[in-house]
Amino acid sequence: MTKKAASPGFALSRPLDGQGRGKLLHSAKVFRKLLLCPIIGLESSIPSVRGFRKGVFCSMSERYFCAEPIQTERVQLTGPEAHHLLHVMRAPVGTRVVLFDGSGWEFEAELVRAAHQEAEFLVRHRAYVDRELPVLLLLGVAMPKGDRQKWLVEKAVELGVGRLVPLITTRSVVQPGPGMLQRLRRTVIEASKQCGRNHLMHIDLPIQAGEWFSACAQAKLRWLAHPPRPACSEEPGLSKSAALLKIAAAQMPEVPLREEHSGQMKPLWAVAVGPEGGWTESELAAAQSAGWQLVSLGPRILRTETAALTLAALLSHRATVAFPPASAVS
Ligand code: SAM
Repeated sequence: MTKKAASPGFALSRPLDGQGRGKLLHSAKVFRKLLLCPIIGLESSIPSVRGFRKGVFCSMSERYFCAEPIQTERVQLTGPEAHHLLHVMRAPVGTRVVLFDGSGWEFEAELVRAAHQEAEFLVRHRAYVDRELPVLLLLGVAMPKGDRQKWLVEKAVELGVGRLVPLITTRSVVQPGPGMLQRLRRTVIEASKQCGRNHLMHIDLPIQAGEWFSACAQAKLRWLAHPPRPACSEEPGLSKSAALLKIAAAQMPEVPLREEHSGQMKPLWAVAVGPEGGWTESELAAAQSAGWQLVSLGPRILRTETAALTLAALLSHRATVAFPPASAVS
């Protein structure tokens, strides 16, 4: 017996002989019979949670995005969503899914016709399901490079960001063009399918950072992320930027808790995150004169997307504390 085979962790590195394979298959069957079947049997008795048709199981949480507003009982799905349903998931007629169109409504629907590139559904039930933040969180960010963009967009959707605004800054290295924006908007749909959002996060066309600073005049909160200056550089003869950085190093400003908001409009909260090369002094000065507060996220230098998502997570939590859902108010 080799040393490898003696270790339980490597036991399966040896090819199984006939007897071993038989034992394994038997164990798998016993596992299925004893554990999985009762669970599936239990779930099949809860039709509102699971859909079963012709022996095919489809979780009701399988969500598909319909680009056209859903206004009738019969709904046609085409394009990549139909392709995924019919050719990747191979869903047969009778499959139940959830459809959403970005309006805030979600629709439980049954597949009634499957053509080559088109699926037709019958809506069985609809509900307005709001999984948005109680504030409109606006994320202005100098877009990072490559895959990190997609990651940023995916996580921003999950965290409830309402609008992502690509910023053009002096040190920006990436400016999303039409193709990139289209791909990122597809990412928004995929992330919304996964996390259950029924409103799509909007991705704006890129704008100059200076324009963004003044465009957010209505926002109740305006935070610009800026790393604190390392202690060793806080020497006599501080430069202008070092003086600004000292402000950033101060404690993060408080968001008013249990703040009241009246009317239909959600309060706007805006944040700005700089490029890998950081903000320039004139950008910092422009932001400050437009009423933005510099905030520090700690002594480590975060990547642009990490800083953006840290702020989004922090503010989505604070928003939920400031405006708790009606059912949670004691
Ligand atoms: N050398 C650059 C500088 O000193 O600004 C680093 C830029 S950092 C990679 C990219 C952006 O993330 C920054 O412009 C800022 O908006 C944000 N950021 C990164 N770390 C931060 C921190 N510790 N506190 C606040 N913002 C931070």
